[in-house]
Amino acid sequence: MKKLLPTSTAGSLPKPNWLAEPEKLWSPWKLEGDALTSGKQDALRIALQEQQSCGIDIVSDGEQTRQHFVTTFIEHLQGVDFNLRETVKIRDRYDASVPTVTGPVSRPKSVFVEDARFLRQQTDQPIKWALPGPMTMVDTLYDAHYNSREKLAWEFAKILNQEAKELQAVGVDIIQFDEPAFNVFFDEVSDWGIACLEKAIEGLSCETVVHICYGYGIQANTDWKKTLGSEWRQYEAIFPKLQQSNIDIISLECHNSRVPIELLELIRGKKVMVGAIDVASENIETPEQVADTLRSALQYVDADKLYPCTNCGMAPLPREVARAKLSALHAGADIIRKELVG
Ligand SMILES: [Zn+2]
Repeated sequence: MKKLLPTSTAGSLPKPNWLAEPEKLWSPWKLEGDALTSGKQDALRIALQEQQSCGIDIVSDGEQTRQHFVTTFIEHLQGVDFNLRETVKIRDRYDASVPTVTGPVSRPKSVFVEDARFLRQQTDQPIKWALPGPMTMVDTLYDAHYNSREKLAWEFAKILNQEAKELQAVGVDIIQFDEPAFNVFFDEVSDWGIACLEKAIEGLSCETVVHICYGYGIQANTDWKKTLGSEWRQYEAIFPKLQQSNIDIISLECHNSRVPIELLELIRGKKVMVGAIDVASENIETPEQVADTLRSALQYVDADKLYPCTNCGMAPLPREVARAKLSALHAGADIIRKELVG
C-alpha cells in the first residue's frame, strides 16, 4: 500500500560549512576544481542521510550542488552574459544585479542530470528534483535580446523540458518547478505563465509539481509580507487556472502565513504539498503544530492527495534548526497518519 502523507521538503537544505559559508544565499564555494566536485557529492550524501534520519519519505539533493535555485541553472545556458549585469527589480520587490540575455538562449548540455543520477544511485526512495520555473527565470534576468518576457519564458520552457526529460530518464520520480513569481504577476500567470509551465512538462510521465511560495526568510521577503495585509489572497488569483492545468501537484506555503486555508478549495482535486514548516523563523515547530496545519488542509485536500512539506527551501537556516524542523514535519505527519487509520 502506498504510504499516506509522504513527507518532503520544498528543496534546498543548508550546506556544510566546509563547502560554503552557511546562512547565506549565493554563498561562494570554499573549494575548487576536483575538491569542489567531490565536496558537492559528499554534501549531497549528507543531505540525503539527514533527510532519511529525520524520516523524510520523498528525498532530494538538498540543492547541495547549486549556489542558487535560479542562477545556477541559467549559468549553464548559452545566450546569457554573466559579466554584463544590470540592476532590476525582481519579483517587483527588491533590486538585484542580474545577468543579461544577449542572444538566443539554449542548453548546450544537461545541467543537473549527473547530479540526479548520483542521487538516484544512493537511494531507492522516491526522489524529487527542483528546477526554476520559466517565469521566475525571466524575472531574475535583464533581457536585451527578446524584449518580451513571454517569448523568453517560452524559450526557457523548451529548455526546461529537455532537462526534465533527461532527469526523468535517470530515474527522478517527481520534477518540481519553482515559481515564486506566480505570486506576484497574476496577469502574466494567466496570459502565458501556466502555458509555459505546461510546455516545460510536455511529454513527461513522472509526476510534476509547481512550487509557489512567499520566498526564503530573507529581509526583503519579510518586509514585503508586512505590506500584504492581514489576509494573503495571492493564490486566489491563480488557483482556478492551476486547477485546470496539467500540473499534478501544487506546493504551497501554509504554516504561519496569512494565506486563508479555505483557498485550497479552489484547487480541489489536485495533489497538494502543504507547507507545514515555516522557513522564515528559527523556532522549531512542535509535531502538534505541524499536525494542526495538516488537519486544517485536510478539509480541502483528500488524504491520499496531501503531501506534508516545508513552506520553502531551508538553505538560509542553521543546519541544526533545519534538521529539527524536518523531524517535526515527520512527527506531525505521523500524528495525522495515526488519526486517519485509527
Ligand atoms: Zn519557495
